[in-house]
Amino acid sequence: MSSYEEHSHRKNLFSVGKLGYAKGDRPAVDCILCGVRDKLEIVPNLTIASTDLSIVSVNLFPYNPGHIIIFPKRHITTYLELTEEEASDIHRLTQKTMRILESHWRVQGFNLGYNLGKNSGGSIPHIHEHIVPRFPNEAGFLDVFANTRVVIYEPYKMLEDLKKLWNEFE
Ligand SMILES: [Zn+2]
Repeated sequence: MSSYEEHSHRKNLFSVGKLGYAKGDRPAVDCILCGVRDKLEIVPNLTIASTDLSIVSVNLFPYNPGHIIIFPKRHITTYLELTEEEASDIHRLTQKTMRILESHWRVQGFNLGYNLGKNSGGSIPHIHEHIVPRFPNEAGFLDVFANTRVVIYEPYKMLEDLKKLWNEFE
């Protein structure tokens, strides 16, 4: 790849840090996840798929490329409020998301879980499960996905790919 091509390729990518909402400029809404659910125009919408009970979305505040969140449509703030129906729905969506990431981006490791309540590191009260792909050198995803080792990616491109894959998977 010539330096010109490399340069123009990289111009088409943008870094997570350059996204306004990733720097703390969060949309002025009571709850950003309810805003995603209600498709409010001022909330960036990275929804991959939804069911009657839950939504799967590329994380609005990613800390790794491929970072996905799954959350109940109901605004609840504690795990104890999650019903069995919601929990199984989220479970099914989690497995499907993992299968897609494993098969399409060859993800081999994950961190999976919730940050709940004060002191947990969570920043959005509406409960949401994180699916964070992990790599041997934390650059493997980018080698496959963005053909670059620079830690930048284009979330909306990834969103389009994931939406297509979602419909192909059972
Ligand atoms: Zn909410």
